[in-house]
This record gives sequence, structure tokens and C-alpha cells, in this order.
Amino acid sequence: MQYVSTRAAASAAASSSQQFSDILLGGLAADGGLFLPAEYPQVTGAELDAWRQLSYADLAFEILKKFATDIPEADLRALTAKTYTKEVYKNARQGEKASQITPLRVLEEENGTRLVLQALSNGPTLAFKDMAMQLLGNLFEYALARQNAELNIFGATSGDTGSAAEYAMRGKQGIRVFMLSPHKKMSAFQTAQMFSLQDPNIYNIAIEGVFDDAQDMVKAVSNDLEFKAKYKIGTVNSINWARVVAQVVYYFRGYLAATTSNDQKVSFTVPSGNFGNICAGHIARMMGLPIDKLVAATNENDVLDEFFRTGVYRVRKSAETYHTSSPSMDISKASNFERFVYELVGRDGDRTRALFQKVETQGGFDLSGKPGSDGDEFKLVAQYGFKSGKSTHDDRVNTIRDVADDYGIVIDTHTADGIKVAKENLEPGVTMIVLETALAAKFNETILEALGEDAERPEGFENIEDLPQKFVVMKPDVAAMKAYIAANTGL
Ligand SMILES: *Cc1c(COP(=O)(O)O)cnc(C)c1O
Repeated sequence: MQYVSTRAAASAAASSSQQFSDILLGGLAADGGLFLPAEYPQVTGAELDAWRQLSYADLAFEILKKFATDIPEADLRALTAKTYTKEVYKNARQGEKASQITPLRVLEEENGTRLVLQALSNGPTLAFKDMAMQLLGNLFEYALARQNAELNIFGATSGDTGSAAEYAMRGKQGIRVFMLSPHKKMSAFQTAQMFSLQDPNIYNIAIEGVFDDAQDMVKAVSNDLEFKAKYKIGTVNSINWARVVAQVVYYFRGYLAATTSNDQKVSFTVPSGNFGNICAGHIARMMGLPIDKLVAATNENDVLDEFFRTGVYRVRKSAETYHTSSPSMDISKASNFERFVYELVGRDGDRTRALFQKVETQGGFDLSGKPGSDGDEFKLVAQYGFKSGKSTHDDRVNTIRDVADDYGIVIDTHTADGIKVAKENLEPGVTMIVLETALAAKFNETILEALGEDAERPEGFENIEDLPQKFVVMKPDVAAMKAYIAANTGL
């Protein structure tokens, strides 16, 4: 399986292709684009039938081996078996089987129309990012051991990504994690989750500033190519291809668990921010999974909803980005969106490059086909099955309350955005699966507002705020940051 960049010039596409292991530890392609397979592996009806019986780990192996063709099959099978266990995804709620890894729960069923929740947040940090990050930790450790190399992961987080990365990389051979977060800006729960890790390879750095200050430091350090090479700096951000592939698996799992034959259609509603999660759904569909609609649910930060309604992609400035009660979806631009746009413009790297350069210079592009626009490909969006909707704080509060009253379960704020938008997009005879992207305990403030009582905490999380915390506080000073990394890597 060869990979190409979304910005590759037509002439360069064939010669610059790379294998799965080549792009595993990297981020962007050298030309600034994102990696995608040169073509999507196809799944037959017979394969789908056979996959109905598989455990999650075995299904993950079958799908990954189509993409990671340069990893020996026995090794890949061992990696997926180690990653997807009921011990890792142990936070299943009453009525869910932990061994299913992403158990489904039917919320509503009427005349063949069903509303179903797929639990993706039963891993160590109670958010769906564990689904991919746990695999990434094991893949990194494996790949680094093969090359006798080391890796220093350097990133910034406003909450979920940082904790998922740290729990996936803790104690791993050859890996250190330096994670920046805005000092005193994360929820008490999120802070405790990260800072209570005592593993010697985990470095928590609280930056005196906001998330953008932390993010700017990551960019400044990453732009120093000499420093980056010398200190073996890598990232685990949401454009990482292996993360996207790992997420493809649960769309297959959700489909197979919700159906009995491949003639049945299923739609997915996906609480969306950086377009990573729903991009995996698009890829599953391109591989031949019979997905009907992919519905992107946004919060007040509705960059994606605007595009899917109008064909205009208009990124927001930091000051225009709302701080909401579904904070993991508070994004001003969707870093994985380029993968879909590349497809939409017929896999034309030159066009894709021009469009995303326009994002940098003019803040967006317009594919509506109206006079003066950059193209008319918006008319093709429906063929790819995409739809969208938007949800606000009041919607979240009301939805959390309604779901608790009607179905007896407490959902988190991001999942509430999903349920609200899913209900607006139900179709007769089609099962709608909503991806549950976090557990309620992570966002207790809003649960308290909606229900007047605290969200239930899974076992082991009862008193995490009281555990000893390990972190340093630093000013947003790039030179000091580099010195800190140098001192702690011994390189
Ligand atoms: C990261 C995250 C999202 C958004 O996922 P994308 O892949 O960025 O679209 C939604 N909900 C939760 C809880 C998250 O942590």
C-alpha cells in the first residue's frame, strides 16, 4: 500500500509515495499536505459476512493489514490483540459488555427507524481518542524498537488529546511525552487525569497563558528543523494517518453489530471538531462499507456545518472561536478536512494545494459554484453522503436532560451535540448510530447544570483530584522550552 500527499503535484505523485511505517512517525508530508492511500482497499460482501463473527481485536487486524502492508501480519495481530482488550476498555457502563470494546445501545426503535449509541469512550481517559491513541502507543513502541530509535512526543492540549496520548505512551520504551497545557484552564478532572501520572517518561508542562500560547510554542519548536532532528521530536496530532485508520475499525464494528445482512443501511452522526473521526467514516464508506449518511454535528463553532450547508469553507480567527461546554469541538479550522477536499476535487493535488494556500492567505475558499467562487464541487457532496447540523449550549443541556429522562442514561456534552443533530436527520428504515465521544464524568459542570446532580464516575476515578500531581509551570518562552527538553532527553 502506497501513500500520497494531498498536495502532491501530478508529476510527483508516483515517485514520492511512501509506506505505512514511513508515515507512522511523521506528521505532514514534505509538501505541507496530508497523507492518504494511493487507492482505498476494497472490502467484499463475503469479507463483511465473515467479519460479523470477529472480536474487535481481530476485526482491527483484518482492516489494518490492508493499510499497513509493510508490517508482518503476525506482528500486527499481536499489536491489535494487545491493544483492544476488555482490561484496557474497562469503563463500560451497566448494560454494556466491556469485551465488545465499542458496545451498542439501542435508544429508540420505531418502524425500522432506530437511534443507537455506540460507546467509544470506555478506554483509560474516557474519550474516544483512546481508541486510536492506544494503538498508536503500541505501534510506535514496535516501530522504534525495530529501528533501535527513540522519539520525543511534543504537543499542546486543551484536554482530551493530551491525556489520551499520555495514557497511551506511559511506560513505553524509547518514548517520552512533553505535553503543554494552559495553566489552570483545563477542568479539574482533566488536570488530575494528566498531572497524576507519575511515570518518568511523562512531562506535564503548564504554560502561563491560553491554549493558543501553548500551541504557538509547539509550532515554534517544530519549525526549528535542526532542533527537531537533534532531539527526535514527533507529534501525535489529529492528522496522524495511523490514528485515522484505527478509527475506521469502529465504523465497521458499529455497522456489523447493528445489522444482520449487508443489504441494511446505517448512518452515523459524529460530534466533529478537526474532522478526524468523521474522516475515518468517509474512508470506511470508500472501502465499501454500506454507510448511508455521515452527519457532522458541530457546536457553536460551526465551520464544518457551514461548509456542508453552503459549500463555503471559512476558518475562524482565534477571537471568533467560542469557548463552549463541548470544548473538544472548539476549533477554528478542521485540520483533517483537507483529506476530504482532496477527494472532492477528484484527487487533484494541485487544486488542493491552491485551495489550502487560499485558506492561509484569505481565510477560506468557496466551492458553491456561484459566480466568483473557486469551483462547483459542492454539488458532489451529497454523493459522498455527507450532511451536517449544529447544536448550542441550550440544546446540550436540554438533550442531556431528555436522554436521561427518556432512555435512563447520562451522556456527555459532545455526545449531546451528536444526539441533537442525529434526531434531525433520522430517516425511515435507516439505523442512525451516534458515536459517543466521551463519558459524562469528564464534563461534570454541564451535567450538574442539566440534571442537578453529578455524573457517575467509573471505578478508580472517584478521588483523582486528591492524587499527588507532577507538573512544571513555565512562561511561554521558546528558548526556555528548548532548554527544558534538552535537559530532560539527555541527547
Ligand atoms: C476530539 C473530540 C471530538 C472531535 O473529534 P474530531 O476527530 O476532532 O472531529 C469530539 N468529542 C470529543 C469528546 C473529543 O475529545
